Amino acid sequence: MKSQDITRTWYDYFSAKEHTVVPSASLVSPEPSLLFTIAGMVPFIPYFTGVEKPPYTRAVSVQKCIRTEDIEEVGKTARHGTFFQMCGNFSFGDYFKETAIPMAWELLTTPVEGNPETGLRGFGLDPDRLWVTIYEHDDEAFHIWHETVGVPKNRIQRFGPEDNYWTTGQPGPGGPCSEIYYDRGPDYGAEGGPAADENRYVEIWNLVFMQYRLSAVHSKSDFEVAGPLEHKNIDTGLGLERLAMVLQGVENMYETDQVRPVLDRAAELAGVTYTSTEDASDPHHATDVRLRMIADHTRSALMLITDGVRPSNEGGGYILRRLIRRVILGMRLLGVEKPVFGDLISVSKEAMKGVYPEVEQRFDVIHAAAAKEEQAFLRTISAGTARLESAVAAAKTSGTPLAGHDAFALHDTYGFPIDLTLEMAEEAEVSVDQETFRGLMAEQRRRAQADARAKKSGHADTEIYRQLLGDSPTHFTGYTEHATEARV
Ligand code: ATP
Ligand code: MG
Ligand code: MG
Ligand code: MG
Repeated sequence: MKSQDITRTWYDYFSAKEHTVVPSASLVSPEPSLLFTIAGMVPFIPYFTGVEKPPYTRAVSVQKCIRTEDIEEVGKTARHGTFFQMCGNFSFGDYFKETAIPMAWELLTTPVEGNPETGLRGFGLDPDRLWVTIYEHDDEAFHIWHETVGVPKNRIQRFGPEDNYWTTGQPGPGGPCSEIYYDRGPDYGAEGGPAADENRYVEIWNLVFMQYRLSAVHSKSDFEVAGPLEHKNIDTGLGLERLAMVLQGVENMYETDQVRPVLDRAAELAGVTYTSTEDASDPHHATDVRLRMIADHTRSALMLITDGVRPSNEGGGYILRRLIRRVILGMRLLGVEKPVFGDLISVSKEAMKGVYPEVEQRFDVIHAAAAKEEQAFLRTISAGTARLESAVAAAKTSGTPLAGHDAFALHDTYGFPIDLTLEMAEEAEVSVDQETFRGLMAEQRRRAQADARAKKSGHADTEIYRQLLGDSPTHFTGYTEHATEARV
């Protein structure tokens, strides 16, 4: 089943159950406390918190999401993208657990060609491969799963609040959740359900039961329940790419129909073969991870630019810049030095336009923004490469490691991530004085914080700060205070 058909089946099923279709909101979060939309429920937050009254009591959506917190997992696990689509069904004071759970089950297990009695189409998953988790004290959910739906007891696992309790982190609505996992089989890990192995058992769907009013939230496992909510809500999220990976019989989400063409193009441009391995000890693993990352980040960049984000040095623009740079550096580490990003993003556009026609309608502007960013970064890299080469030569002559000061200057002035410096130095068989590098990074961070504090308190004495910073002005400003932690 193609991704586009998953979306269609999702909308059809919940429309038949009287849900109002709500189009995806922008990736730029409508909620001011968030940079990006990170879940299907984000556009509905005012309804859940009671700030606004919803115009419907049931809604269905397929929401574009960006999660930067997962960036280091991309390509290494089978299931984490920086961009993904969250299919959601929502109840605002309408149905609750007793309806949400059987609907989820029905949709997942009804045959793709449809149930002859109801006419509804589903995803045709084998019920014996599905496992569920519930919050440890949620006996209600247990009974619905076991009694009403018929899931055997040994495939229902109870988890603590860290995993299966939802809060906003603040006083307000909260409640237990229940998640559905798909068993990929013994080739993917140990038996024993999601508690044993989350690579073999892939989380596909999270059902959140907002049923309590919390008067205080101290941590994920320490909160105070003031009482039941008058209007209970349902918020669910199913990862479209994760379901696509299962339905398309591929190894991971980067091999699904909306992402794979970019991966293939990157491999072709680099003249390497993608081997689809998840085994970190396999010699092909590093290349495979890089290709998966490139494919994922290219799509994320495409979707962000489409939603109006432009590369910059702060906020969402900085995240976009970082994604694009990781693609370019990834290609470089695969041996491609010519501009390729415009090509990759065109391939991604072709794969996405069926669902998001705007990627094609706005493609002139998108392509221009992408190409401009790539050109600027390639200029920075070539200036940095010259500097790196002379530092390597100096280290070789003196028989010492590459100086930490040089690594720092490459980072600070040319935007060279330490990874790239390490990798290029290794190729030249030179080690790097990483301790000095880290010390200089820490010092820079302290200065930036002091600077920020001084600005806040209104005592900024620019002359003193210029002296502290030394005489050389920083040309490259891509790594601001928060960004010094982040690796491109
Ligand atoms: P995981 O534990 O695998 O990181 P999660 O518990 O953080 O997932 P939720 O916050 O429960 O995910 O989001 C609801 C659903 O969205 C998940 O069940 C999954 O199908 C999907 N999802 C979450 N994060 C990602 C991601 N980075 N890439 C693709 N799909 C995702
Ligand atoms: Mg997660
Ligand atoms: Mg999880
Ligand atoms: Mg989850």
